[in-house]
Amino acid sequence: MKERRTRLDAVRNIGIMAHIDAGKTTTTERILFYTGKKYKLGSVDDGTATMDWMDQEKERGITITSAATTCFWRDHRINIIDTPGHVDFTVEVERSLRVLDGAIAVFDAQAGVEPQSETVWRQADKYRVPRIAFINKMDKIGADFDAAVQSMVDRLFANPIPVQIPIGAESEFDGIVDLVKMKAIKWYDPEGTEYGYEEIPAELIEKAEESREDLITHVAEFDEEIMELYLNGEEVPEDRLKAAIRAGTLANEIVPVLCGSAFKNRGVQPLLDAIVDYLPAPIDLPPVIGIDPDTQAEVKVEPEEKAPFVAMAFKIMVDPHVGKVTFVRVYSGSLNKGSYVFNCNKGIKERVSRLLFMHANQREEVDYIRAGDIVAIVGLKNTMTGETLVADGAGKVLLEQIEFPEPVISI
Ligand code: GDP
Repeated sequence: MKERRTRLDAVRNIGIMAHIDAGKTTTTERILFYTGKKYKLGSVDDGTATMDWMDQEKERGITITSAATTCFWRDHRINIIDTPGHVDFTVEVERSLRVLDGAIAVFDAQAGVEPQSETVWRQADKYRVPRIAFINKMDKIGADFDAAVQSMVDRLFANPIPVQIPIGAESEFDGIVDLVKMKAIKWYDPEGTEYGYEEIPAELIEKAEESREDLITHVAEFDEEIMELYLNGEEVPEDRLKAAIRAGTLANEIVPVLCGSAFKNRGVQPLLDAIVDYLPAPIDLPPVIGIDPDTQAEVKVEPEEKAPFVAMAFKIMVDPHVGKVTFVRVYSGSLNKGSYVFNCNKGIKERVSRLLFMHANQREEVDYIRAGDIVAIVGLKNTMTGETLVADGAGKVLLEQIEFPEPVISI
């Protein structure tokens, strides 16, 4: 098998957080549809697998059954980690928030921020998870983009900064103004597959200019070069603006806000672009701190392929085709299939027989995994969720301390 080619800076480990009914499932399905349609796996990564989008289309509706689903967009490997939307699973939510690097928060454009979103948002705050927001259901009766954004301020104490504004709402919703490009996004077919950039409609130019100025003044607060361009009345180049939005998002200073209607296939490809442009790669984030179980000393676990292997199991599932799989997040190092790992919680050795990336409709078998990967391991017999695996013979580390479950919050 050829060496995998996705660079570590082209990996995005993301979760989709949403209140029940906001459209998480629909958005995820559309993401898998568009990524499957656009790419043949073999052309992007290790040259072995192919994905037929017609097959994927057939499987729509049962697409996201996996704890982590891999797809590709603009040569980036996007691993979507299932984030339980229900507050009763607080421990599971927290564990999934620890293994992802960034998240999309999906809101209903009519309902705005709903109570359950507040709980998950606070948990994401605790782990400083960089986020972008997707105001979904712009086609729904009562959809109000500005009110939904304001509800993020009022209820989440967030700093939402629109990078898009909708063109129309409810049944009149028929496009998006991209405030970075200062162009209108229009769709040309009912499936929303074909889209392109056009001039901003005349009646929206003033609002778009105000919104762009708001965006620029916010990023200028933490970007001196942009502040200077702004004060001198000079144009801010698109790439420069994108980089500043990304930096602000990674520092948890701002939450870029996008909009669309997943149900009507509007806005999903620009959302994929935003995942690539604004959410972090594994190497963008600070090292994870673990504990050496023997000495209680802190251990810094860096996202370095050359360092010793460290991973955490976060979900165990039974796959209909391969049996028991253990989903792990690799924090450091690399590991070949067929090798042994040491479970630091149990003090036992386990053999890794197969390594798989789970896609919407197939499994992609790989020979080795490395820092930043989210992957399913076949062969682990006794490892449970929350347990840390290291290279056999390397230093021990525990990533998740034993903690009492949080009280269940009922709303
Ligand atoms: P989840 O509970 O967050 O996973 O939400 P679902 O994706 O299952 O969507 C809940 C309901 O909202 C379903 O009936 C969807 O068809 C509907 N829905 C999802 N996205 C949209 C949208 O963009 N517009 C409208 N009008 N309805 C939507």
